[in-house]
Amino acid sequence: MKKMKCPFCEDGQMSEASYVSVVRSGRRQLDIDGLLHHICDRCAQSLTDRRQMAHNRAVMQAAQERDVVASIDTTFLQTLRQQHDLTQRAASRLFGAGDSSFAKWESGQSKVSTPTALLLRCAAEVPGVIDHLAMLHGESSHRAASPEAPAPAAERHS
Ligand SMILES: [Zn+2]
Repeated sequence: MKKMKCPFCEDGQMSEASYVSVVRSGRRQLDIDGLLHHICDRCAQSLTDRRQMAHNRAVMQAAQERDVVASIDTTFLQTLRQQHDLTQRAASRLFGAGDSSFAKWESGQSKVSTPTALLLRCAAEVPGVIDHLAMLHGESSHRAASPEAPAPAAERHS
């Protein structure tokens, strides 16, 4: 990589360095490592070129995707199921996964994919998503999962 003169102090040399930045991801804060910029060896001013910006965007997106996947842990999955009176099998079907998927995810035997993690987060954070998924599956699968659970009127679409 060619060296460049610092445009700020016009004295030092800019060279590429990696740095860590803290960004918000929903309510959480993420330490993002491996971001790139040029930094001056004299005045310590930094600048980011186009290539580094593209790299940094990709690094941030990957970190946020990893964070969404990591947020889907046992507690998250069990809480989501309990709130909607779903068995592991019924929940698996609702999210279009194999029958034993929730069992495997909850035991840590396998990890959710990024698309599934995003859908699970939507289901947990946006009211009506679970009911809508049930409707897409013909509703009966959702109701059959919890025959004695009272259907809360407030959660039904009007
Ligand atoms: Zn400088």
